[in-house]
Amino acid sequence: MEEMNELEKIAKKILVCKKCRLWKNRKKAVPGEGNPKAKIVLVGEAPGKEENLQGRPFVGAAGKFLDELLKNAGIKREKVFITNIIKCRPPYNRTPRQDEIAACWPYLEAQLAIIKPQVVACLGNSAATTLMKKTGLKSRKITTIHGKSFAANLFGKRVERIEIVPLYHPAFAIRNARMKNILKKDFKIVARYK
Ligand code: URA
Ligand code: SF4
Repeated sequence: MEEMNELEKIAKKILVCKKCRLWKNRKKAVPGEGNPKAKIVLVGEAPGKEENLQGRPFVGAAGKFLDELLKNAGIKREKVFITNIIKCRPPYNRTPRQDEIAACWPYLEAQLAIIKPQVVACLGNSAATTLMKKTGLKSRKITTIHGKSFAANLFGKRVERIEIVPLYHPAFAIRNARMKNILKKDFKIVARYK
């Protein structure tokens, strides 16, 4: 599959990337994984402790909850593509800095250009703000835009239309029953594209 080869080329570059300071402390970079022809791409913030060890996205506690959210919405994990705004773990899971996001952005942009999904679900503020800005949308507080779908045009003429859906981050909702329910409900919007 052509898309798979293209994605693997990008993954190889990510694994040895030194474009920002985060390469120094990483164990494994996390390029992302999933269906190269996914209609749904999920974008998180950054690898956490477990992801950094395994080199795979959302395999720790937040990942368990993400699996639950996907199941609840009737979406198979292997049918989507899952990645992050930045591909290496920030120290102590701090929020990614703007220069790190800028350095790493070309990888996500290239991944999206290959996959050409119908929808990008943004898990948390870093992903939502970045994707909204990059698609020329006005980014607003996650509390006002979560669970809504915004029509955008990511790559000019190459991708006709893409929907951006900002969501709360699963890690943020793990210990909060109300937030969990909001995320479950919001995931139903994403499921429209499965
Ligand atoms: N949190 C994220 O944002 N991404 C991961 O891959 C894991 C946890
Ligand atoms: Fe490269 Fe991105 Fe890792 Fe920074 S976070 S070193 S830009 S792959």
